[in-house]
Amino acid sequence: MLPVEVMQQAQAELLDWNERGCSVMEVSHRSADFIDIAEQAECDLRKLMSIPDNYKVLFCHGGGRAQFSAVPMNLAKQNQSADYLVTGSWSMGAVKEAQKYVDVNVVCEPVKSSDGQISVPLCSAWQLSDNASYFHYCPNETVDGIELSEYIDQCTVPVVADMSSNILSKPVNVDRFGIIYAGAQKNIGPSGLSVVIIRDDLLDIERPETPSIMNYSVLAKHQSMYNTPPTFAWYLAGLVFKWLLNQGGVVAMEKRNLEKSMMLYQAIDQDEFYINRIHADYRSRMNVPFQLVNPKLDSKFLEEATDAGLLALKGHRSVGGMRASIYNAMPLEGVQALVDFMQQFSKRYG
Ligand SMILES: *Cc1c(COP(=O)(O)O)cnc(C)c1O
Repeated sequence: MLPVEVMQQAQAELLDWNERGCSVMEVSHRSADFIDIAEQAECDLRKLMSIPDNYKVLFCHGGGRAQFSAVPMNLAKQNQSADYLVTGSWSMGAVKEAQKYVDVNVVCEPVKSSDGQISVPLCSAWQLSDNASYFHYCPNETVDGIELSEYIDQCTVPVVADMSSNILSKPVNVDRFGIIYAGAQKNIGPSGLSVVIIRDDLLDIERPETPSIMNYSVLAKHQSMYNTPPTFAWYLAGLVFKWLLNQGGVVAMEKRNLEKSMMLYQAIDQDEFYINRIHADYRSRMNVPFQLVNPKLDSKFLEEATDAGLLALKGHRSVGGMRASIYNAMPLEGVQALVDFMQQFSKRYG
């Protein structure tokens, strides 16, 4: 979900933005008006994440997945490999795409203990290659509900992070990363847009055949306006950044996200009717997957939840079960409503 206040503002100025007598959708991306919107959004994102000056911020097309190809095309050097940590389906998706361009070395995958708990082996067990151009991972696996809280410190090569589903959910030290990228639709704004935060020294090393609209150097040189950017999505992202600043920024978000996720995991762990198999150290604060002990009740659960106004709880088709995505814009009351519903449901059918 997007913040209600943001949607209301977008609605109020949909037909007449800034007293210009037209919509943001109708102004040229080269106009001074749009450039103001674009620069303000970047400035606010820089403030929110304390992005150092030696990083560029790019607003790109193609969502998260476009970056699965853009990263190897822009970073993989001739005759070098790339290290990928696989913790779930999105990092696996990144591997499959990168294999088209570079020799991929999977350093590690999640493991299941004898009691069924899923965790990620410690970095001492990872098989890093000695000629990697970069290291790629996904700090929060949206489908699997696995989040890594530690930084990747054991790599000497640039660290690339797909933060699509946990960007802006807590403070991060940007200078620990070579590239941070995120599809916008989880924590930033509408789909189709992605944000790329890239350290200056990683520009101008792309392969010559890299398409211009995915070429970080070209995009940086043109302030992300090499071609027409997704202007309305960029504008909405800017409204969300302002909203986040007004809420107290990422420190306030982290506090709220911790509270929300703890409430939900507690409800799952205390009721034998529900299961989450992720080891406590790796549980996501953004995406909480859970199963009913009796999967025959899945469709009933979803049906009754929808009737109660609790939407989008169906787990990803690859894993089944349920998943509650509790991104920044989800208020504590939303999680409370889900927990109340879960308790009532298990009383009735348990
Ligand atoms: C949603 C998601 C993506 C894909 O985003 P698209 O915009 O659909 O391409 C990639 N990575 C992660 C971690 C995601 O959650």
